[in-house]
Amino acid sequence: MDLPIVYHPDYVAPLPEGHRFPMAKFWLLYELLLKDGVAYDNQFHIPTVPQQELIELVHTNSYVNAYCQGTLDAKAQRRIGLPWSPALANRTCVAVGGTILTASLALQYGLACNTAGGTHHAFPSYGSGFCIFNDLAIATRVLQKLNLVQKVLIIDLDVHQGDGTAFIFQGDDSVFTFSMHCDVNFPGTKQKSDLDVPLPIGMEDDDYLQTLAKYLPDLLSQVKPDIVLYDAGVDPHIADKLGKLALTDTGIFRRDMQVLTTCVAGGYPVACVIGGGYADNLKDLVYRHSLVIRAATGVMSSKHI
Ligand SMILES: [Zn+2]
Repeated sequence: MDLPIVYHPDYVAPLPEGHRFPMAKFWLLYELLLKDGVAYDNQFHIPTVPQQELIELVHTNSYVNAYCQGTLDAKAQRRIGLPWSPALANRTCVAVGGTILTASLALQYGLACNTAGGTHHAFPSYGSGFCIFNDLAIATRVLQKLNLVQKVLIIDLDVHQGDGTAFIFQGDDSVFTFSMHCDVNFPGTKQKSDLDVPLPIGMEDDDYLQTLAKYLPDLLSQVKPDIVLYDAGVDPHIADKLGKLALTDTGIFRRDMQVLTTCVAGGYPVACVIGGGYADNLKDLVYRHSLVIRAATGVMSSKHI
């Protein structure tokens, strides 16, 4: 079975010239996967825009309406950090649909990847840090509502703490939130995940991978999730503009392999999202984002799942 990958051309919404969020990366990632023979056209699944009531399993009706209609006040808009447009509103919703689809595919096939997603700074009533709706939280709630899963583990290895996700699931025993992030980085005020592992500035590959190995196997056997949602942000990379850790390409790939092989060996399905990544050199950045899909492809073929 080939790895199911989720992509929609609408993942790219035009932003003003010079905006620091590199949105073209989503399309370039799709192109790179095809060009490098990592994936073939028939592996791609196209998501749809979810019904608003699904988004409202996590977010307040007033926030969803205001965002989708472009009537958020200027302060709330600034906190998101992306200028509103109808195309961006559509892109936001279709990317949430992408993570929902990826999670369903992971349940079906054992492993699946979205070429977007990981908007973990979004809270129920507001967005923040380039994150508008929390796709990880919405996909969790949708699968639970459909009785497809009960227990969910969210592994968030983006360099920034998954504060929105932690807040949303605080006190909810059905969802375990694990965030390993650089301590001295956005968000300034951290929330409390079920397990937070704050890392010092400048941590390199081996220390990072050893830290992850210290927690991950026990976490899986303790939580025994019906599905793992994995935020494979590449902003812990040494060249990332917003990072502050010092992982190499090899380190990121080894990290992704470590997560995927540990989960799959335990029989836990994994839905991956690409998470954050910020660089002026888009080619290098897109290659980094492709690492989780390369890792997942390898795991899928070696395990015959
Ligand atoms: Zn990040």
